[in-house]
Amino acid sequence: MIDISFEINGRKVSPRNMSNALEAAVLQSVQESIKKTVGSARCPTHGQTPKIKVKGRKVDSLSFEVSGCCDQLIETVKKKLK
Ligand SMILES: [Zn+2]
Repeated sequence: MIDISFEINGRKVSPRNMSNALEAAVLQSVQESIKKTVGSARCPTHGQTPKIKVKGRKVDSLSFEVSGCCDQLIETVKKKLK
């Protein structure tokens, strides 16, 4: 399973423990769509799964930060997220 984390305005958050229900719902849906698009991504060379950090100043201006074992995996994931 891929590793998805969230950072809003410099603070680590989770869709499950946000005080704002609307923001929690936004993050939840982002998480679901990432799982759908790259949930099965795995590096063919190293067998590793990617880590994705979703970050932004607010939940409506998010960007993705992808990390993984090698550039090939990172590029594959980035393409899928677009
Ligand atoms: Zn790799």
